[in-house]
Amino acid sequence: MTLDTSPIAAIATAPGRGGIGVVRISGKNLWPVVQAICGKDEHSLTPRQATYLPFKRADGRAIDQGLAIYFKAPHSYTGEDVLELQGHGGPVVMQMLLARCLEAGVDIGLRLAEPGEFTQRAFLNDKLDLAQAEAVADLIEASTEAAAKSASESLSGAFSKVIHDLVNKVTNLRMLVEATLDFPEEEIDFLEQSDARGQLAAIRATLDDVFMHASQGALLRDGLNVVLAGKPNVGKSSLLNVLAGSDVAIVTPIAGTTRDKVTETIQIEGMPLNIIDTAGIREAGEDGSGPDEVERIGIERTWGEVSKADVILHMLDADRGPTLEDEKITERFPDGIPVIRIWNKIDRSGHKPAVDQMSDATHIYLSATDHLGIDLLRGELLRIAGWQQTVESRYLARERHLIALKAAREYLESAAAHASVDNQSSDQSLDLFAEELRLAQERLSSITGKFTPDDLLGVIFSRFCIGK
Ligand code: GDP
Repeated sequence: MTLDTSPIAAIATAPGRGGIGVVRISGKNLWPVVQAICGKDEHSLTPRQATYLPFKRADGRAIDQGLAIYFKAPHSYTGEDVLELQGHGGPVVMQMLLARCLEAGVDIGLRLAEPGEFTQRAFLNDKLDLAQAEAVADLIEASTEAAAKSASESLSGAFSKVIHDLVNKVTNLRMLVEATLDFPEEEIDFLEQSDARGQLAAIRATLDDVFMHASQGALLRDGLNVVLAGKPNVGKSSLLNVLAGSDVAIVTPIAGTTRDKVTETIQIEGMPLNIIDTAGIREAGEDGSGPDEVERIGIERTWGEVSKADVILHMLDADRGPTLEDEKITERFPDGIPVIRIWNKIDRSGHKPAVDQMSDATHIYLSATDHLGIDLLRGELLRIAGWQQTVESRYLARERHLIALKAAREYLESAAAHASVDNQSSDQSLDLFAEELRLAQERLSSITGKFTPDDLLGVIFSRFCIGK
């Protein structure tokens, strides 16, 4: 990726009013801006030291007074020279200060920063690897304490370190194999003598462990997407309230419009679940009217959400038994997504709370209002998600990381097949063994940013907020 090194500026603090607001500039040489706004030069502004001064307009009058801090490259967040101006955190004063910076920086080509561009520079200047850069965004976006803790660990390099260690082990093994290929006479005994199989088995075991921790982290980051479907009055809202209310959950209704999907995020044993309410799915209004155009779009969108769900909860009335409407809803469920069929209102039907693993789905009998069998549902959701409460450290992994880890796992599995005892070490199988190791190494390295294509880097950084 080529680095556009023109200096960049942005307001680094959140929009709105606050005690302090920060404008940040990064680039190769920012002294002309410092001179114009702070009236200081290289000799009168000590790097990494806060200096209280007025931030001046072109006519010499002050926009605000505050702290100026200069970070000399490479000792800064981005690895370039960085100037931070800390003023009063009002939206207007911050905009004025930013505009003044751009004006004072015209000659050095100062421009507004793109989203994530400061962090992108930190990555390109080797201040952070890619997994750490992603952790910056994850830490900012973390909505639970556990997620923030994991993001912070990744940012400090804990996840990157386990990936590096794995890459090193794979590289060492690969070098061993390739050296042997250069000396064919020693090849026959190679697998035994170097215990290549043992080494590979150890690497695979470590990778499995990393994958488990990363999957747990991905769940912690993104939550399990659960769709709550069913015809009106079967008890969907009641169930949602029970699930949300009895946990120390942070319940955040995120509604687009009332006609759009509604997602509630709750927690079970620390695992976040995004429950998508499909209350809007209906064919006709209560007064007999059909859904209007806007509603129809909302309904289609909801079905779009259903196809992305991790689990579908299909709620039915145990007292009334299955109906044709229930059938219709079932027909629309996409293949391949686990369905839990919840028979609610057992307080009336006389069923006992139970879990029944049937061929079509898991059936659970419960009562939302009488709190019967709710733990059975909780347990089943945790089981389907593979959530392990006892796991201490989770890497706040992203889908991208999981895909790379999975691919590396498959390459190592193939490597193991080439090195198996049945597959006597022939020239060709050793070649293939080395090649699979190379591919595994490449995929693992992509997590921390080596061999990561430019367009992917672009996507990752564009999702950051401006000023970060
Ligand atoms: P929704 O339309 O599917 O969201 O259903 P609601 O949660 O609004 O419930 C519809 C009605 O069924 C309400 O009067 C609830 O009190 C009642 N209800 C919900 N769950 C139960 C249950 O487990 N037992 C009984 N007896 N009534 C229930």
